[in-house]
This record gives sequence, C-alpha cells and structure tokens, in this order.
Amino acid sequence: MTDSLERNLQHRRRVLRALLWMTLIAGASFALINIKRELYLLASLELIYAAFAAFMLRFVDTTPHLKAWTLAFLVPFFCIMVTALLLPQSSYTIFAWIQSIPIISYLLLGKRGGFWMALIFISLGVLAFNVRYVTELSLVNLAVMANVGFSALAVMLFSHIYERSRDDNEQRLIELAGTDSLTGLANRMRLSEAFRAMRSQADRSNTPLSLVVLDLDHFKQVNDRYGHEVGDSVLLHTAQLLKRRLRDSDLPCRLGGEEFAMLLPGATLEQAADLADAVRVLLAQSPVTVGRERLNVTFSAGVATLGEDGDSLSELLRIADRRMYEAKGGGRNQVVAAGQRYALAKPDCTSDTCSE
Ligand code: GH3
Ligand code: MG
Ligand code: MG
Repeated sequence: MTDSLERNLQHRRRVLRALLWMTLIAGASFALINIKRELYLLASLELIYAAFAAFMLRFVDTTPHLKAWTLAFLVPFFCIMVTALLLPQSSYTIFAWIQSIPIISYLLLGKRGGFWMALIFISLGVLAFNVRYVTELSLVNLAVMANVGFSALAVMLFSHIYERSRDDNEQRLIELAGTDSLTGLANRMRLSEAFRAMRSQADRSNTPLSLVVLDLDHFKQVNDRYGHEVGDSVLLHTAQLLKRRLRDSDLPCRLGGEEFAMLLPGATLEQAADLADAVRVLLAQSPVTVGRERLNVTFSAGVATLGEDGDSLSELLRIADRRMYEAKGGGRNQVVAAGQRYALAKPDCTSDTCSE
C-alpha cells in the first residue's frame, strides 16, 4: 500500500498484458496453420484477434477503463474458443483451451465478474463439446461427458476458492492499512481517502464539510507520571468517546501521537465548533480511572471548513492545526474557529497532572 487505499489493479493489468501477448503470438501462429488447412473463417478470426491484441497492448498499462477493455477482449475471445470447438474440421483438443476460461475470468474480473463469465462460457464450452463429440449415449461417452464436465467444474471451483481468499486478504490489508492499530480509528491514509469522497459529495450537493484537529493537553505528563501504558489507555478512552459521540457519517481519526481529527460532512464551521466543544466538555467530564485516581483529560482544538479555509485536505489541516495552537496559546482546553474562541475553559488544566 502506498499513498492510496484503493484496490490495486496492477495484477490484473499484468495478467491481461500476458494474455494479449499470448493471443498475439498464438493467434498469428494458428492463423498460418489454419490458412494451410484452408480453414479461412477461423484463420481470419484469429488474425483479427491478434491485431486487436496488438492494439490493446499499447494502452493496457495506463487505461482508466480496464474493466471495459477486459470485457471487450474476453467476451469475443471466449466466443471464438467455443465456436472453434463447434467447427466440423476442428480438433477436440481445443477443449484444453476451454479449461483456461475460469482461471482467466477470475484473474481478470475478480470473484463476482469471474464467476458469471466462467459459468456462462464453461457451460457453453461443455455443451459445445457434447454436441460435437458425444453423438450417442453409451457408457464410454458417459465417462467422456463426466470427464469434460467435472474437470471444467474443478478448475472453476479452485479458481473461485483462490480468488475469494485473495480478495478477502486484499480487503483485510486495505482495512489494516487505513486503521490506527492502537485505537482502531481511521489513520491519516483513510482520512485522505474519505476526504476525497466527502469533498466530491459536498461539491455535488452544495453542503458544507468541516475538519476539527484536536490535541490532548499536557499528555506528556500523563506518560511521565503514570507510564506509557496509562498514556495508551487515555488515547483509547479518547478514541472511544469520539466514536460514541460522532454520527456514523462522520469520521473520527487519529493523526498520530495524541493528535486526533474529526471530518464532519454537512457541518458548517459553527456547527463543527459546537460539536468539538460538546466533545471537549464530554471528555473533561469523563475521567480515566488509574488505580484509585481519576485522571481528567482535556484537549485543545482548531476548526477549519471547506471553501472558506481551503479546498484541499492539507490546507484544512494546516489551518485547523494553526487554530489548535492558538487554543493552546490561549490557555488550552478550548476550541478555536476562525478567530472565534468557543467555551473558554476555566483553568488551563482540569487534569491533576498539570503543572502550569
Ligand atoms: P501540549 O498540551 O502542548 O500538547 O503538551 P503535550 O505534553 O500533550 O505535548 P507533547 O508534544 O510535548 O507530548 C506529546 C507526547 O505524546 C509525547 C509522546 O511521548 C506521547 N506519545 C506519542 N504517541 C504516543 C503513544 O502512542 N502512546 C503514548 N502513551 N504516548 C504517546
Ligand atoms: Mg498534546
Ligand atoms: Mg501533539
């Protein structure tokens, strides 16, 4: 995983590129053989397909419409395979190619697309084989049909199992890459992804989108006085409180250390500041129990909103961060939004760990 949590389709491009090269070489070779055999229809189809493969090789690594091109290539490709099997002069060994349909389909289209593509063309392939080569019902022919049917089914089943576990693993990796391991909140990477999606939605529906950055006050003293493990529990406590308090459509996130963020679709600057302040009060009123002591935790927060404060996540983070430091400078345990100070707290420290 690099800078994106989106599904990595690189492996599909590689498989398609390999298939295109194979089609180009095999298509040209078979066309020559079939011209010699005077199977002109088949030879023409193979030549056209080899040319199509050569054409697609030029952009297979870069096209944003990979799925559409894959379908445009695969559907006629499999149709040719099945048609070839039906031609009176063709050899039954073509069925060996039919066996590759599930593997190619699952590798290129994933589990759902692969399943339907494989099911349709494997069924047509087995049907074509039976129409062409099983002329009468006998025990020998029954064994032939069973061989053809079961071997095709086995390849499809194994391809399905393989693709399903590969897909599950990929999902899990994407999930892990976007999750903070200590708190289970989204991390910076998922925040970027979510911001992109929420900004498009906000643009489309002309609704606001705001960001709050919050940093725990005097957190170092918690670590110094009670130890790192207690520090971790405080971070977890804060994360759980954010999760509980926010709506499902909001995104609480841990930026790193004792710094958190909240991405709030539909919230104006004022609404986001009010919400941040409500969370601040809630946290200040929910002490963490350490042995016999009750440890009060507070934070300072800065708020920024899409449009007025910038259009990119980095701009909003920068502005919200600057306001958060204003809140620190102004005495901590407070929220700052566009020069406005919300619910200025009584003392700098509600925590008994504070020294200032
Ligand atoms: P301020 O009010 O100005 O924000 O002061 P602060 O003490 O909260 O800020 P400072 O940046 O001085 O200290 C942050 C501390 O957070 C230092 C670091 O040891 C601690 N920290 C960072 N990540 C973790 C973590 O994952 N677990 C724990 N327990 N502590 C962490
Ligand atoms: Mg801090
Ligand atoms: Mg900090």
